[in-house]
Amino acid sequence: MCRIKALLRKYVDHPIIKVYFATQWKIKDFFSIAKVIKVERCFTTLERKKRLVLHNLVSISEISDGLHVITCVGGEEFNLPPYGTNLVASVGPDGILLVDAGFGSTAEALADTLKTLGNGNLKLVINTHYHGDHTFGNQVLSSHATIVAHRNVLDRMSGSYFYLSDLPSPNRPEVGFDDSLVIHFNGEEIHVVHIPPCHSNGDAYVYFTNSKVVAVADMFFPDEIPYIDLFGGGSVDGYLSQIKRFISDFPDDTRFIAAHGRTYTKDDLREYDRMLMETTDLVRQAAENEKTASDMINDSLLADFQEWNGQFPTTTLEAWIQTVYTDLSGPADTSPSICEPMTRVLVESSIQQALEEYELLKTSQADAYDFGEAQLNMLGYQLLFRQRVDDAMEIFKLNVREYPESFNVYDSYGEVLLLKGDTAQSIDNYEKSVQLNPDNTNAVQVLERLRGSG
Ligand SMILES: [Zn+2]
Repeated sequence: MCRIKALLRKYVDHPIIKVYFATQWKIKDFFSIAKVIKVERCFTTLERKKRLVLHNLVSISEISDGLHVITCVGGEEFNLPPYGTNLVASVGPDGILLVDAGFGSTAEALADTLKTLGNGNLKLVINTHYHGDHTFGNQVLSSHATIVAHRNVLDRMSGSYFYLSDLPSPNRPEVGFDDSLVIHFNGEEIHVVHIPPCHSNGDAYVYFTNSKVVAVADMFFPDEIPYIDLFGGGSVDGYLSQIKRFISDFPDDTRFIAAHGRTYTKDDLREYDRMLMETTDLVRQAAENEKTASDMINDSLLADFQEWNGQFPTTTLEAWIQTVYTDLSGPADTSPSICEPMTRVLVESSIQQALEEYELLKTSQADAYDFGEAQLNMLGYQLLFRQRVDDAMEIFKLNVREYPESFNVYDSYGEVLLLKGDTAQSIDNYEKSVQLNPDNTNAVQVLERLRGSG
């Protein structure tokens, strides 16, 4: 117990961890949020027998000779997001190759765990995509190993994201690839294959060819509606096609390890594929009949698929209707983001100048840029993840002013106020958010916590 408490104390003092804790639910805008997954569901009965819990933050199961599933567990008791993330590790004479890095807050526990496997020499980490529960551990693991990901992941986490060129994310991978990699490691040929576009625009799966195990990360969500990050370049058709390729292109006894949930077989995937095809067909047919997404939700269009309903906003049947419907119309706005000129000014000058640039362009070139709420929200989080809390606060404040009817902007502003220690104003904003959207479970939970802590 003392060890866990000591670890958590260490983590919560870390500025990045503070940001992560405070933003864990809002990351849905550009960092994937899955859902509550009972960690035990990640393991078959047989696997559970072999499971060894090294400590409460990380658990590990050897699924074939030298290949391990490592689960960074979640849960309120650890002040972590409430879902676990499965990582896959090849362990042998060459050292350790790890697929994904898990949460930032479990990274040191993960690094400790890896030291107990084989020769403990972590050589290579492959990020399957950019979402925080797959990359935030990079900062700790990069002192041990090289971090590799698709080029789009590097782009998103580095200076080419808007114009934050002098502010790369501390979790940015070091090495990028375009299409695929073949790695010979621990006597196994390992294929790292980019899928454009799928869950995001930077996904890669990792196929361990001898073991017939594929680490698929978020390329499907076992037993529930998937989350497709359209905003991060994901695509419904890309996602659906990849499920079919997993079924058609891999040996029958292949095992698929998803980031959140139990191990899948091809039979499981066939059922998943059926669900995806049937639900997307229903939404597309309804759209052809000129139904809006709201109509479909009100009509309970997917009522027959209730068993697939996720427990969090991004994995519900309603969210799926919205995703499929939104995807039909393609990218919503092809105009450049207003954040591009704003960040140019921000990097060269100051946040005040950047805000003035916003006002100027809004007045003089309203059609030339995407001024959407999501743009400012994204910029706010990009700044937060670079520890520019004061600048982020100004951006979130601007979003509240611009979009006073959006529950989301108050939620974001409430988060940054909390980070700044302004609990009273934070509560005001969370309350406003709940007032606009009583289903905003994040705000409800934060308010309970804040009131509970007095
Ligand atoms: Zn993801």
